[in-house]
Amino acid sequence: MASTICGWCGTRVHMQALTTGPIQLPPSTWKRTAWGSPDTDWPVYTRAYQCANEECQRLSIAWASVYSGARGGVNEAFDTGRDLQWEPAAVSRPDFPDVPAQIADTASEAHACLSISAYRGAVALARAVVEATAKDKGIIKGQLVQKIDKLAEQGHIRDDTRRFAHEVREGGNEIAHGDLADERMPAEDAKAIIELMDEILQEVYQGRAKFERLRASRLEREQRNKDAKAGA
Ligand SMILES: [Zn+2]
Repeated sequence: MASTICGWCGTRVHMQALTTGPIQLPPSTWKRTAWGSPDTDWPVYTRAYQCANEECQRLSIAWASVYSGARGGVNEAFDTGRDLQWEPAAVSRPDFPDVPAQIADTASEAHACLSISAYRGAVALARAVVEATAKDKGIIKGQLVQKIDKLAEQGHIRDDTRRFAHEVREGGNEIAHGDLADERMPAEDAKAIIELMDEILQEVYQGRAKFERLRASRLEREQRNKDAKAGA
């Protein structure tokens, strides 16, 4: 039984296997070795599943490259579901309600890229979100690093966040300046950059908006109490 977020209905479910066991795909679908031939250490397997959500029940396909020397073998790889890729993939598109619409849309799209492992796209968009946030706050000069410093200087983000930003900024630089390294961007780096983007949006817009709502609600309450007393 493999647990995942269903790409159709978006709920976390147990996927019920439909075929008797994972099927090995032909070598033409396997990873390539440095010499261009199919890597016999990493055959590819696939299996069909059905969503356990009563309101959905649609079919998804899982597949994985499983190391031929893996101890638990292919069945265990599919049972734990750890390294399975799913078709259709669950695409995450979170809302950013207190963020200006254009910036919010781009941030949501960065998450969508991340959820389908399109790491370079995710990072390039996250970078654009941070640039646009700085611009929205009147900061238009300099490199991204200087803009993040300015956001902190003007009190829009905490110093912790500024330091976090400096820690992860290199990844974004690689993509934006055309230094598309031979090595793929590691998933963890892309995730850290998206987290940073979320943190900046949280501090610049969402935290503040929440504070304003709380304040407005308190003032209203105080006013009602005052009116009630005056009327008594
Ligand atoms: Zn489903």
